[in-house]
Amino acid sequence: MRILLLGNPGAGKGTQSSRMQKNFNITAITSGNLLRQNIAKGTTVGKIAAKHMEHGEFVPDDIMIELIGDELQRNKRQNWLLDGFPRTINQAMALDDNLNLSGQSLNLVINLQVPEEVILQRIMDRWIHVPSGRVYNLSYNPPKIHGIDDVTGEKLTKRDDDNPDIFKIRLQKHHALTEPLLEYYNKRNILITCNGRTSDEIYPQIESELIARFNVISPNNQVKTSTEKNLLKVATRENL
Ligand code: ADP
Repeated sequence: MRILLLGNPGAGKGTQSSRMQKNFNITAITSGNLLRQNIAKGTTVGKIAAKHMEHGEFVPDDIMIELIGDELQRNKRQNWLLDGFPRTINQAMALDDNLNLSGQSLNLVINLQVPEEVILQRIMDRWIHVPSGRVYNLSYNPPKIHGIDDVTGEKLTKRDDDNPDIFKIRLQKHHALTEPLLEYYNKRNILITCNGRTSDEIYPQIESELIARFNVISPNNQVKTSTEKNLLKVATRENL
């Protein structure tokens, strides 16, 4: 599986990505998390990225292309899921060139469509744990202790760009840049669009698509299969 996840900022790409990772053997390569980790570590890439992100601007293509290229190289034998990259046609073409070199082009692009008023509320409620990339939402996925990461006990932070003014800039830019990207992938017949107001409405659509396209087993079937296996064992013992 070589998948790209697209959707408005706040459309729930992170949530869908975690579910896919949990249920299938997929490694997520998330541009926003990679950038924030670089900023937290104070790397050269992080310093340049921070200047752009603070103003709601995109990080320059050349930096993004190199950052993601390194990550793809590390994960080239795995199923992977790109989240947040590519965002421009320039980045998409660079990604194609990179993947074509190894004959491993993208084989699915998933576009998440969530109404804008739902997205705006989510942005206001979102808190994150930078080192792990874990995302919490005060309305439907709150941490056990307010402001604290459930796993490490470390402090949660608000992203600098999660405020209404910066959000508006991000949304406008996103529309202008994503439309051509959707057309670009639509021409290749690898684009699907999943609609819904909640991640619970959208996830089953993604799961059915993965099962149909990649011939992978649904996690629900795996449960059924192991139950069936147990029943079979019991039946075999009784026969003996
Ligand atoms: P969201 O999914 O809410 O847009 P991200 O965590 O994906 O947020 O990205 C946060 C910020 O990181 C973006 O606003 C942008 O400044 C920068 N960024 C992430 N991915 C890219 C990319 N592919 N190209 C340029 N900038 C990027």
